[in-house]
Amino acid sequence: MAEQLGSLARTHTCGALRPADVGQNAVLLGWVHRVRDLGSLLFLDVRDRHGLTQVIVEGDDALLERTKRLRSEFVVAVLGEVERRSPDTINLGLPTGEVEVRAKEVRILNEAKTPPFSIAEDMNVSEETRLKYRYLDLRRPQLQHNIGLRHRITMALRKYFDENGFYEIETPILTKSTPEGARDFLVPSRVHPGEFYALPQSPQIFKQILMIAGFDRYVQIARCFRDEALRADRQLEFTQVDLEMSFATPPLVFEIVEGALAACFKEIGVEVPLPFRRMQYAEAIAKYGSDKPDLRFGMEIQDFGPLFADSPFGIFREAVAHGGTIRGFVIPGAAKFSRREVDELVEQAKALGAAGLIYARHTAEGVQASAKAIGEEGIRKVLDAAGGAKEDLLVLASGAADAASKVLGQLRLQVAKKQNLIPEGKWELTWVTDFPLFDWNSDEKRWDSVNHPFTAPREEDLPMLESDPGKVLAKAYDVILNGWELGGGSIRIHDRDTQAKVFSLLGMSEEDAKNRFGFFLESLEYGTPPHGGLALGLDRICALLAGETSIREVIPFPKTTQAVDLMCDAPSTVDPRQLRELHIKNT
Ligand code: ASP
Repeated sequence: MAEQLGSLARTHTCGALRPADVGQNAVLLGWVHRVRDLGSLLFLDVRDRHGLTQVIVEGDDALLERTKRLRSEFVVAVLGEVERRSPDTINLGLPTGEVEVRAKEVRILNEAKTPPFSIAEDMNVSEETRLKYRYLDLRRPQLQHNIGLRHRITMALRKYFDENGFYEIETPILTKSTPEGARDFLVPSRVHPGEFYALPQSPQIFKQILMIAGFDRYVQIARCFRDEALRADRQLEFTQVDLEMSFATPPLVFEIVEGALAACFKEIGVEVPLPFRRMQYAEAIAKYGSDKPDLRFGMEIQDFGPLFADSPFGIFREAVAHGGTIRGFVIPGAAKFSRREVDELVEQAKALGAAGLIYARHTAEGVQASAKAIGEEGIRKVLDAAGGAKEDLLVLASGAADAASKVLGQLRLQVAKKQNLIPEGKWELTWVTDFPLFDWNSDEKRWDSVNHPFTAPREEDLPMLESDPGKVLAKAYDVILNGWELGGGSIRIHDRDTQAKVFSLLGMSEEDAKNRFGFFLESLEYGTPPHGGLALGLDRICALLAGETSIREVIPFPKTTQAVDLMCDAPSTVDPRQLRELHIKNT
């Protein structure tokens, strides 16, 4: 039977006691982490969010008898005296490891069923079981740490933005669609039959309207909802640190965001050098084959096209003659690769979409390439141009410029991972800027926004908006860490006509634009300041700073990759009466 806490008050957390406390009485409240019953002596490890403290029960037969019932995860109150541990039992791996509490009284505040897994660091349990019993999983020190870190990062961000003149302002959850390229979650209205609210994909329109409303600087730790195809590390709802500034220029946004990220890094004791690198989208694609370049290692993609313009190797010569390129990169230390290893590399490249992969290297006998037709002189020339060492291997692929780089970019990452060429503990932050404004959607025969429809084109590209939309670059920027996109944003369109023109280029009729965004187009006509902003993915920042590979490790109650909440079994069916009230017929 459970005993009462009564007036017993905690004097110390389970992570607090130190040798200086020896001789004091302490009251600890927490969970039994482990019991070791040595007959006339019993050790209890008592755990709470702050740590573990060893409790010893000895000499009091009645107490000993009662505490023998204790099992892992029982909730206890322990009152006792702090003692120094005998030298042979000191545990320096534990902050409280030099002391223990000699129990005078132990109250069992609640019992616990045997948990389906032990609350330990190194457990081998399926994610399904962990998520079903998330309240037990969350008790594990690692998740306690992660959620604590998330709290500290959030607090640091709030403080930082406050100090920089931002107001934290809430925007609606039940609202009208704000497009970010995903499907909306819809909420049927009971009082307006046949009408729906949309959950926000982002607060984009509202934050822009807040600029029109004169709030100057806005920030929100905002939950966003996107009904996207299931992908490994995506959640249907996720958190953004969403911000917007009036009279913003890209350098001003960069400065503010760099300061915010530096404040986050400080929470893990890392000082990141400011300002971050800046790289145009076109350069990122050419050199790294990705708009999220991982800059922790080299192996940059180079263009060797001109070297093959009159090459005896027909495939490359022809590719160049037809406007294609020959691109490649150097794999450090890979000249020694065996036949099987280079064959694997070629297969990998083909699986990524390359027509083939040619390699070249120095050998004891001279130089060698997988396409002999390149000729010794040709091979030497390209190896010299690549600038690698004798121990390295050069790989080459042909194709249209961006396509070749994108394949090589993926190969670069796969090889670097496999060959352990990515240094640990490095934080490489960069801005990627000047994205294209539009992407051609060949299925629907219209342009799509690369970012979202509120992104401003570069002024110098405005004249091409109608004549050559594919060439227009945007005042858009992403911030990248170690190959992960931490966030993105842009300077916005702030005049009605350009905004209406962009809607029309996206295939929206005037009628359609009016229905969906009429209120916004109208608001733009009442004195809209130039403005811009960005949103950072809080889940991803926390995961990276916690050293986790999945955002599910920093979200207290995540859904599975199948979009299911296993703990409360959502989504679930509902009462037919509820559906009737919402005017919904289940087909
Ligand atoms: N609303 C954008 C997003 O959710 C961010 C921004 O442009 O500020 O990605």
